[in-house]
Amino acid sequence: MGARPLTFADAGAPLKGAGFVILGVPFDATSSFRPGAKFAPNAMREASWNFETFHHQHGIDLSDIAVHDAGNLEDLARVEDMLKEVHTAVDGILDNGSFPIVLGGEHSLTPGVLAAIRERQDFGVVVLDAHMDFRDEYLNLRGSHACATRRSSEIVGPEAIVPIGVRSVSRDELEEIGRDFRGRFRYIDSHEVRRTGMGPAVRKALRWIGKRRCYLSLDTDALDPAYAPGTGTPEPFGLSSWDVLEAVKLLAPRLVGFDIVEIVPNYDNGNTAALGARIVREVIVAVHKARAGK
Ligand code: MN
Ligand code: MN
Repeated sequence: MGARPLTFADAGAPLKGAGFVILGVPFDATSSFRPGAKFAPNAMREASWNFETFHHQHGIDLSDIAVHDAGNLEDLARVEDMLKEVHTAVDGILDNGSFPIVLGGEHSLTPGVLAAIRERQDFGVVVLDAHMDFRDEYLNLRGSHACATRRSSEIVGPEAIVPIGVRSVSRDELEEIGRDFRGRFRYIDSHEVRRTGMGPAVRKALRWIGKRRCYLSLDTDALDPAYAPGTGTPEPFGLSSWDVLEAVKLLAPRLVGFDIVEIVPNYDNGNTAALGARIVREVIVAVHKARAGK
């Protein structure tokens, strides 16, 4: 590397007045299979410099949008400590009037972000994920990344969170959902997205959620490993990068925050970090445009 400071590209705006704040959470202490997600925030920052500042499709220059990179939180060992830090940091971002963009790290961070936003407004959540993440606990840990959507559902309500792209779930999770959450917790699997396209899938999720405002959590393993090989628990038959782009486009006018989690640079050929960085830029441009249009 040269002397380039390790911040996200075109994120040199001061905190005060920033429309968007990027926050890295280098946490991967609950990883069940392949750890290393803690290196993803900086891998995405490095990859972000490979793109033109001008966004061709939207006709906007990223350098004209006020984005602040707040750097990384401390690398903590316990989920509870990490969640507290994330909550406090996102509080600060919201106090500043900015849109939070959180770079994981593991999916276990999402409930911390949601808890901070929930103190200020009502909203639903779309999760893109290969996994249901609905176990009540995993390896005796309720804060495990395998429980991310379950913990998130306790913050916004099971009716207000919909995973899309699911293709990996345990029999126990499925039985519990059928028994205790029938008609209240719903999801859309990757086969349905393949059949109907992402547009109808997102619209269906929004109908179920029934709220005007929405948060998007992107677990990178929602994508097929062909598009995103650098992830902790790769799962074939996933979403394409175009599907994710479509979801971002459709959700942008409603978004209150965004996280991208579970990229593991040790297993990456560079493409996953590049895709992650590019999706972050897509979120920034799409949300900026949606807000400017109002
Ligand atoms: Mn997952
Ligand atoms: Mn997940």
